[in-house]
Amino acid sequence: MARKFFVGGNWKCNGTVKSNEELVKVLNAAEVPGTDVVEVVVAPAAVHIPAVQAALRKDFSVSAQNCWQGKGGAFTGELSAEMLKDLGLPWVILGHSERRHILKESDEMIADKVAYALSQGLGVIYCIGEKLEERESGNTMAVNARQMKALADKISDWSQVVVAYEPVWAIGTGKVATPQQAQEVHDEVRKWLAANVSPEAAAATRIIYGGSVTAANCGDLATQPDIDGFLVGGASLKPEFVDIIKAAE
Ligand code: PEP
Repeated sequence: MARKFFVGGNWKCNGTVKSNEELVKVLNAAEVPGTDVVEVVVAPAAVHIPAVQAALRKDFSVSAQNCWQGKGGAFTGELSAEMLKDLGLPWVILGHSERRHILKESDEMIADKVAYALSQGLGVIYCIGEKLEERESGNTMAVNARQMKALADKISDWSQVVVAYEPVWAIGTGKVATPQQAQEVHDEVRKWLAANVSPEAAAATRIIYGGSVTAANCGDLATQPDIDGFLVGGASLKPEFVDIIKAAE
């Protein structure tokens, strides 16, 4: 089954009204492969979502960077999945390493968030990945499998999930995984899906790579058979994001 290349830009806690307008102008003018070849999604900070949504070309989509784990209500400072749906957003990023490790979100809480977001009709970019010490102690796949299992315990339909393998040691560090390192984990994650969810889910689920992806390194990564796209942080704030989208070709 062909998996459509997926390129996400995670703008994190960055941007002003003006800088976002400039970035959207660059994206709107970009000549990139069509929606039959690549799905492009950008995730501005929540406060900027409506403005970006209004200005951005309609063949690109907008994602949120987080949402609450259940129905909205008395949860000061949170965003509910219902609110994202009401805005017409198709995607939310959940499980990002900054939320796992800085905000201390547990595997279980993240899985609850994903399950609830899916139940509300959102697509989910589900981030997994090991820390450097976990890789160095030989636990790379154990950590990624644990994070996959936490979600598999709460959902059965993976059709609206994109898995983003983002080794923590590669995020924002300039230290990108080699194509072989990334492919090895993507292959293992796909095998995990085949064994623990279904061969169909394994064949259809997009597994994208994130961690210091740039215009210079995306081409080699994109040649790997199990790398179905990218989740991009720093470089998604620059015009080079357009070159990363073109890696889909
Ligand atoms: C990210 O935060 O999802 C990410 C991949 O960041 P960067 O590209 O800056 O490493």
